[in-house]
Amino acid sequence: MSETPAPRSAPLRARAEIDLAALRANVRALRALAPGAALMAVVKSDAYGHGAVPCARAAVEAGATWLGTATPEEALELRREGLRDVRVMCWLWTPGGPWREAVEADLDVSVSGMWALDEVVAAAREAGVPARVQLKADTGLGRNGCQPGDDWAELVAHALRAEEAGLLRVTGLWSHFACADEPGHPSIAAQLTLFREMVAYAEEAGVRPEVRHIANSPATLTLPETHFDLVRTGVAVYGISPSPELGSPADFGLRPVMTLSASVALVKRVPGGHGVSYGHHYVTPGETTLGLVPVGYADGVPRHASGTGPVLVAGKWRTVAGRIAMDQFVVDLGGDEPETGSEAILFGPGDRGEPTAEDWAQAAGTIAYEIVTRIGSRIPRVYVNEGQPG
Ligand SMILES: *Cc1c(COP(=O)(O)O)cnc(C)c1O
Repeated sequence: MSETPAPRSAPLRARAEIDLAALRANVRALRALAPGAALMAVVKSDAYGHGAVPCARAAVEAGATWLGTATPEEALELRREGLRDVRVMCWLWTPGGPWREAVEADLDVSVSGMWALDEVVAAAREAGVPARVQLKADTGLGRNGCQPGDDWAELVAHALRAEEAGLLRVTGLWSHFACADEPGHPSIAAQLTLFREMVAYAEEAGVRPEVRHIANSPATLTLPETHFDLVRTGVAVYGISPSPELGSPADFGLRPVMTLSASVALVKRVPGGHGVSYGHHYVTPGETTLGLVPVGYADGVPRHASGTGPVLVAGKWRTVAGRIAMDQFVVDLGGDEPETGSEAILFGPGDRGEPTAEDWAQAAGTIAYEIVTRIGSRIPRVYVNEGQPG
């Protein structure tokens, strides 16, 4: 991901400003909400589009003692970039993955089934170093993870045998929620009960995990009984609420980290009845002015928000007029004539009156996770407040 050290005033087409002070404050707020647990900052998918390495560093500065990624490549990148004095875990493996590199880089690797256990044991034997293995239980998500019953018994037994042979350490027992963002959903209590049973089974068999964990952001924010030894927070680290039904970021003491803005590329006067953008889905209702915002779906601005996406242009709330194209979209400025180069803010924390990522999620019929994660590599990330305040 581009990490452009552009000054604030640079005349960029578009930028995603990443406020690392907000990120650090979010990590501290989350640690205060889960005082008995360690905190893993989940930095998969380039830190949900915010830039993995700078965000990981800032999270560690603020007290995260674990980093989490989906793929081993993402985790290895963190080690290569110098994130060494922190536990790093990755959970999305496929056969033939870089197990040996992971073992040598002291990563915690997740194992959900026998094929993965076999591959990590072989890698540890070659490396001559024991692997750090976390066994994942499927307590009801129905995605990755080992099924309870015979499958879990077999996985635990084989892991213990490899541990006795000095080939691995079972460092964690863990699982993931399906519906933690829906308070009161019956699956939450059911998953928690099954998790306790699967952990108890493994511990009675002789597993001595360093960490047991199941909580993602929504569980961290609203279900203290799920915190165990470690909470895995992703979206909340970036100051976004997992779901508007749970509350706003401010309700949890969180502040959005990313502000996406662009420079207005053209302002022009047009007559009434003028079609705007592909398909002419917007036709000017009368004489007006149009502003051209030079970002589009190639930059991750969702085309589904055509006709609905909100933008603050020169201080006023506007709506995308017509279709969002690959590289640009248009807003009806209602006769106003802001200067070209004026700031168009697509989303940010909201305190200057600008929309939020959640507003874009609603406009596009998706979740705010997807809005920030999909911001494309053509948009430079501009880091502000990098220094740790004294
Ligand atoms: C992405 C992910 C998380 C973080 O989820 P958030 O809702 O963003 O906090 C935690 N655990 C696993 C396994 C994940 O894949």
